[in-house]
Amino acid sequence: MDLMTGLTAANQALGLVKQLRDLERAAGDAVFRDQIVKLQEALFDARSSLLDAKEALQEKDAQIAELGKAIDELNSGELCPACRNGKLKKIAGKKPRSQGMARAGIQEWTMRCDNDGCAHEETKLHDPNRFLEK
Ligand SMILES: [Zn+2]
Repeated sequence: MDLMTGLTAANQALGLVKQLRDLERAAGDAVFRDQIVKLQEALFDARSSLLDAKEALQEKDAQIAELGKAIDELNSGELCPACRNGKLKKIAGKKPRSQGMARAGIQEWTMRCDNDGCAHEETKLHDPNRFLEK
């Protein structure tokens, strides 16, 4: 069941309450009791559906938080792509071969994973003035 099922069940319960108010004066005891049972069932369905929906939303919130964390790590470029556990740290920097890149302040950095069990190294262009994005 989902949120819409819960809302539908709640609406049905509210409709039954209205019917009960009308029947209270006019109908006999058996019809009245039957409507009370139906109302109770509808309310139990509504509560169950809403609890299911609440649980599903909590799961979605947890997934969204997890994905947000993963996106942050990927965007930071700090997470080691090999072991996905360590962080990449700069161990050396030098001017790039291209004179134009060097003039733009771009450097070629050698990065090494700080995880002891991982020997991953890579070079990347450090572009503090975001010249390459223009
Ligand atoms: Zn690593």
